[in-house]
Amino acid sequence: MIPSAFDYAAPTTVQEALGLLDAASSAGDEVKLLAGGQSLIPVMKLRMADPSLVIDLGRIPGLSGITDDGAHLTIGAMTPHHVMATDPLLAAHLPLLQMAAATVADPQVRHRGTFGGALVHADPAGDMPAPVLAAGATFTLSSANGTRTVDAADFFRGYFTTAVGEGEILTSILVPKYTGWGAHYEKFTRVSQQWSIVAVAAMVRVEGGVIAEARLGLTNMASTPLRASSAEQALAGCALDADAIAVACSHAADATEPVSDLNGDADYRRHLVTVIAKRAVLAAVGLPHTGMRLAEA
Ligand SMILES: Cc1cc2nc3c(=O)[nH]c(=O)nc-3n(C[C@H](O)[C@H](O)[C@H](O)COP(=O)(O)OP(=O)(O)OC[C@H]3O[C@@H](n4cnc5c(N)ncnc54)[C@H](O)[C@@H]3O)c2cc1C
Repeated sequence: MIPSAFDYAAPTTVQEALGLLDAASSAGDEVKLLAGGQSLIPVMKLRMADPSLVIDLGRIPGLSGITDDGAHLTIGAMTPHHVMATDPLLAAHLPLLQMAAATVADPQVRHRGTFGGALVHADPAGDMPAPVLAAGATFTLSSANGTRTVDAADFFRGYFTTAVGEGEILTSILVPKYTGWGAHYEKFTRVSQQWSIVAVAAMVRVEGGVIAEARLGLTNMASTPLRASSAEQALAGCALDADAIAVACSHAADATEPVSDLNGDADYRRHLVTVIAKRAVLAAVGLPHTGMRLAEA
């Protein structure tokens, strides 16, 4: 449980960090960026990562915080989960992200762990990727060669794998505002403060007494977060009625590839996601969604 020896650098600008990253990568050294350390440090202690240089992003001003850019919110990669869970801009325009951040682990982890760190770590059971995918966010990546943007649909590539290349730093995430949409993050766990067995991120726009549009992201239903496209289509035009919503959400498992593990096998997860999707959508449109939980799941 003790990591190998490593050098440590704490740059104070993104340019300085990129210079260090570039020099070390060119020399063939393994480098790791340190955000909140909530995933990286355990991985290093287990010696599943053995970097010779750790570059701490924590001293760079401007990488943390949430700003209103009109149609979007820009969220700095180093914004801690705790800030995400309490920020008034998110409450007004992106409550889904706020709800998901509030379910991450415990207060200690939420104060240290960051939005960007969680997205780059890309754990299939992590709670932030599915809401970000459902919201259609855009990631800004900086390197010594400049800046590029990647859509959320192209960002998550596989287990713990993203589009972030060697020599790149995720600096911010641009998320469209969904002001006035109903939202809910429904996370299913066996015990409190556990990683998601399955979770559903739901955003719903209601117009004229029916669901006009729905955006659903699934957590832990494949090696990457997924959109529940069939259920989204079935929900469009759906009455605000629990039975109709349940029928639409029965499509939530379509095109998913969940794992089997000690928390449940793949078939269990395929059933569970339909129940959790229904609860998430009912809550997002403001209908009662509790009761019969144990019997259903
Ligand atoms: C006990 C415990 C329980 C947890 N439970 C949950 C949970 O229920 N749900 C959940 O979603 N998460 C959970 N987590 C994980 C938590 O969300 C972490 O905060 C997150 O996975 C990593 O964020 P971090 O800021 O700590 O990143 P780090 O651990 O510092 O970094 C993670 C990885 O991302 C890379 N990285 C970090 N920032 C950047 C960047 N800006 N650009 C490029 N690469 C970068 C690092 O190099 C590293 O490879 C838990 C963690 C712990 C310790």
